[in-house]
Amino acid sequence: MKNFLPKQYKQDKKLNINHNYLSEQFSDHKKIFKKIEKVVRNNDFTLGKNVNDFEKRIKKLLKANYVVAVGSGTDALMLSLKCLGVKEGDEVITSPYTFYATIGAIVTAGAKPIFVDINDDYNLDPLEIEKKITKKTKAILPVHWSGRICEMDEIIKISNRYKIPIVEDSCHAILAKYKNKMAGNFGDFGCFSLHPLKNLNVWGDGGFVLIKKKFFYDKMMLLRNHGLISRNKNQLFGYNSRLDTIQAVVALHLLKKIKFITNKRISNSLYLDKKLSKITSIILKKRQKYLKEVFHLFEFRVKNKKIRLKLIKFLQKKGIDAKIHYPIPMHLQPAAKIYGYKKGDFPTTEKISNTTISLPVHEYIKKKDLNFIIKTIKGFFNES
Ligand SMILES: *Cc1c(COP(=O)(O)O)cnc(C)c1O
Repeated sequence: MKNFLPKQYKQDKKLNINHNYLSEQFSDHKKIFKKIEKVVRNNDFTLGKNVNDFEKRIKKLLKANYVVAVGSGTDALMLSLKCLGVKEGDEVITSPYTFYATIGAIVTAGAKPIFVDINDDYNLDPLEIEKKITKKTKAILPVHWSGRICEMDEIIKISNRYKIPIVEDSCHAILAKYKNKMAGNFGDFGCFSLHPLKNLNVWGDGGFVLIKKKFFYDKMMLLRNHGLISRNKNQLFGYNSRLDTIQAVVALHLLKKIKFITNKRISNSLYLDKKLSKITSIILKKRQKYLKEVFHLFEFRVKNKKIRLKLIKFLQKKGIDAKIHYPIPMHLQPAAKIYGYKKGDFPTTEKISNTTISLPVHEYIKKKDLNFIIKTIKGFFNES
């Protein structure tokens, strides 16, 4: 097995309009270096002051009851399930249309992922959830795909009716809103990632959890740090999943820009929405007034797989980093073979996986780049 990432990054870098924008985002890195130097001088590496400061700032920004910073978005999910007492043989209901980590977290917590199909909004279909509930169901795990919050009113109703807690995968959804409430505040746990390609990011891995109840907050604080209640007392056996102080410095620095980042992603996406809506050969997501989507990606669909392949090749040849997030849904991944799912089990998920394309919409895309993207797509379909 080889590390495939260096080659992928090299390939992506050749394109002009890219999903990766980190060198621009951190062009003021010298300021961050100075703050890191302070951490190094103070030896404040493990759960240092910056971690506490970061948690406080997030709590205020996202209007959470409690916040715990952890090692990654994956850990945020896994530890939330552990807080709920999820163990071997339990089931967790989630979307097959997600990044691998959502499912990896469920499996490492010991549970079996139970998939439910999505709707054309790329999010869990609430009507399908109820059918999959059993005595073993220990959590419902909605994924707010690409920064669009799931139909939470419906999901909360089910959660209340069956007394099954909700763990939100909000990794794409910082500052997203559903009927004026922010992502991460609907369930008992709201999980976020600080991975370099997320809307708020650091120089490596990191994550955090919004927590509603004091009991779970106390447990999460223990779980992330070996279950230590004090230097000499091990209350329960836990994990080593702390946000590095150095990464907290980076996160705190970027946090100042998060509203700018978010607004820019939104305005870029709405511009694409407006201009691309004139092209009859593509299908855009239907926007809802009660949602504030924060556009981790800008996605649209075409008629079929063949056209998609051609369009992606065409866009890439013009230097536009068009990608598929993701071509193989989770239930059809080799890793999921043990669960016995097959092609055709989740028709909408498979339809979207076969026809979706994503474009970069981050804060450093220029208007002229957006116009170039629009012109290129119009050119491909011979529309003007
Ligand atoms: C990135 C991501 C995760 C995992 O986050 P990491 O910080 O990379 O562990 C989980 N769920 C979704 C939907 C993600 O995109």
